[in-house]
This record gives sequence, C-alpha cells and structure tokens, in this order.
Amino acid sequence: MTLAQRHSKILQRIQSHTKSGKRSAELIAVSKLQPIEKIVEIHALGQQKFGENYAQELSEKAEALGHLDIYWVFIGHIQSNKIRKIVTHAQEIQTVASFSHAQQIARHAKDLGKAPFPIMLEVNAGDEASKSGSPLKEIKTLALQIVQELPELQLNGLMAIPPDSFSDSNYSTVPPLYHELRALADEIGLGLLSLGMSNDLSIALDAGSDMVRIGTAVFGSRDS
Ligand SMILES: *Cc1c(COP(=O)(O)O)cnc(C)c1O
Repeated sequence: MTLAQRHSKILQRIQSHTKSGKRSAELIAVSKLQPIEKIVEIHALGQQKFGENYAQELSEKAEALGHLDIYWVFIGHIQSNKIRKIVTHAQEIQTVASFSHAQQIARHAKDLGKAPFPIMLEVNAGDEASKSGSPLKEIKTLALQIVQELPELQLNGLMAIPPDSFSDSNYSTVPPLYHELRALADEIGLGLLSLGMSNDLSIALDAGSDMVRIGTAVFGSRDS
C-alpha cells in the first residue's frame, strides 16, 4: 500500500467506528523517526496534526517545514531542559505528568507569546514502572491545581498509553480500563481523551476516544 492508501484507510476506520451522533475522532499522524518527505506527502493529503516524541527532532522538522501549516503535537517524554525548545516549536503538549513541568510550560508559553498553551495530562494507565505519566489516582488533584494556578495553560484533557497487552487482536469488547479512562477524561479540563495507537485503534474508538495517535499504521515501520 502507498502512504496515501494507508492514510485513507485509517481515516475510513475512524469514520466507520464513530458512533452516530458523536463527532469523529481526530487523527494525529505520529511522525517520530519518519523522514520529512513522508510528512510533506501526508500533509498534502490534508493531514494537519503530526505527533513528535523528541525535542531535537521536533525542532529540526518544524524549522524545515515552517512554510507548511502543520500543528505539531508533542507526545514524548518531557525533560526539563528541553521544555523551552518544545514550547517554541509545538502547538500542544500531551505528556504533562507533573506540576513542575506544567509550571515551566506555562512560564515559557507566556514568555513566547503562546499562552494559553494547550496541554493534556498523561496518565500511567497500567501503573507500569517502565512507563511515564502520572498515577491514575493523582490525576484529578494535578488537574485541579493546574486549572486554579496556571491560566497560561489550556487543559484539554487526558492522554494515555495503556499496557501493550491491550491490542485490537486481544479484545472484542472495550476493556474496563478504557471505559475508566474515558470517564476520567470527562473530569479533566475540557474533557478530551487522547487514546489509541496502531495496535489498539479499534477499542480506543469504541471507548469514545476524541483523538488517536497513529504512527506505523500510517507511515509504515519506523526502521525502514
Ligand atoms: C510512537 C507513539 C505513538 C504511535 O505508535 P504506533 O504504534 O506507531 O501507532 C502514539 N503515541 C505515543 C505516545 C507514541 O510514543
């Protein structure tokens, strides 16, 4: 399949899973470790939002593609010393997991004239030691503190990367964890949920995710 065919197939899957009366989920094309030419090609098909995981790669791509109206979403692990670079080049950060990072994003956003800056809180949905994100039980407190103390941020909702065992091939109905994440997202900021990757796209859409982050199913393998 060509890049255009894969992109169109994912858009069709998103459309067909959309429950009647609900607006369609938005596609974030995850372009980390993918070449710039592929981003240009997919952007030309009307794709505007792209996800990147590494501050340096984001800044290089955003600068090289500055002539295109791309909306860059940062979805990688945040390091304090990279926050200014990320806020400079991204239009949104979905991986905020501490108040300290939120404060720094707020400060740079104000400084760079980008306030109110859209963010999401990343939840460590499976409480896995190997994954980043804030524990489920601490999310609401963090959300409240951000809304009350950081007007330079716009808290859009919740982002999650569930354990790898949650895949479309293992589930025919939506697992409880996904319903839990949907319900929790409703209580965070504007109530949006960013859930669903190449492997769990269908269950995430069935659970009512508002945006899905798809890398390999659109771009192909990151190694090639
Ligand atoms: C890499 C990545 C994705 C995309 O993963 P695929 O399996 O390639 O679809 C989505 N979200 C985050 C946070 C990622 O790091």
